[in-house]
Amino acid sequence: MSVLVVAEHDNTNLKPATLNAVTAAAKLGDVAVLVAGSNCHGVAEAAAKIGGVAKVLLADDPAYEHRLAENLAALVAKLAPGFTHVLATATSAGKNVMPRVAALLDVAQISDISAVEGADTFVRPIYAGNALATVQSSDPIKVITVRATGFDPAPAEGGSAAIETVDPAGDSGLSQFVGQALSKSERPELTSARVIISGGRGMQSGENFHLLEKVADKLGAAVGASRAAVDAGFVPNDYQVGQTGKIVAPELYIAVGISGAIQHLAGMKDSKVIVAINKDEDAPILQVADYSLVADLFQAVPELAAELEK
Ligand SMILES: Cc1cc2nc3c(=O)[nH]c(=O)nc-3n(C[C@H](O)[C@H](O)[C@H](O)COP(=O)(O)OP(=O)(O)OC[C@H]3O[C@@H](n4cnc5c(N)ncnc54)[C@H](O)[C@@H]3O)c2cc1C
Repeated sequence: MSVLVVAEHDNTNLKPATLNAVTAAAKLGDVAVLVAGSNCHGVAEAAAKIGGVAKVLLADDPAYEHRLAENLAALVAKLAPGFTHVLATATSAGKNVMPRVAALLDVAQISDISAVEGADTFVRPIYAGNALATVQSSDPIKVITVRATGFDPAPAEGGSAAIETVDPAGDSGLSQFVGQALSKSERPELTSARVIISGGRGMQSGENFHLLEKVADKLGAAVGASRAAVDAGFVPNDYQVGQTGKIVAPELYIAVGISGAIQHLAGMKDSKVIVAINKDEDAPILQVADYSLVADLFQAVPELAAELEK
């Protein structure tokens, strides 16, 4: 069996979540990685070095510069008949492209898998991660999005796959790139951060998030938030962790002033070590935390920052 992984990148850097999709793909067969972009040869070279990748397909064309889903889906659908499975990560980008691919191929999409049971059988979380569904597909080509936290990343180095140029599928003319407003941060991205410190409604204001930023700076951490903190306007919505936010699984997740609603837990409960700082000893987050500090965050967090200064 041969498996195509659609790489996620910005024409310069390969997004780390692609490595997790490669691990899922390697459970199914020989892995080819598609790098579609513009002036993205460097990304193809990075993809060729991933351990376990047999081949890299490079589609370098202005039509893919901004990875418009309509253009990319047409290319993936054109290449798909050479594969038994087509995978992408269940990120916003992957979730934009893969349903279109599935529709073009007239197959069902298998969404957000967290385990591979066999060539046609996959596990995926449902009900905000409270149940796991095992799904089986009889479609000739399986179009799949992968929950990155369900799979370890494949080694970024060690492979030496050949890079093969493929013909672009052209501009579909269905959409046009107008512009983008990207948030800039010196901190790591939430979905790939090794450490995350998140604040909830207990932070009381956006200004108070600077308490978390101080700790984040010391730990090289990303800053996240609960939906309540986002809805209250404390921080932008790309900070949100949870069922309707980002799914993360860092080595260390520090939840500050977050109660631990199931929708929040759905986004972070696979973190390796969970620390909770909450003044309520009955807060549900304490049930999932490995280490809990029952304290007022306005005292505990500055103390933590001061200790890290030492
Ligand atoms: C369909 C749906 C999707 C959702 N998706 C998400 C999602 O993706 N992510 C998400 O987070 N939520 C999501 N929610 C919302 C979720 O149900 C909760 O409302 C939300 O997570 C609560 O956020 P919170 O823990 O910050 O606030 P609260 O539940 O109000 O908890 C605040 C916590 O702060 C503590 N606290 C207060 N002051 C202090 C202090 N001084 N020191 C220490 N601790 C203090 C309190 O004890 C409390 O535990 C979703 C809800 C629905 C219905």
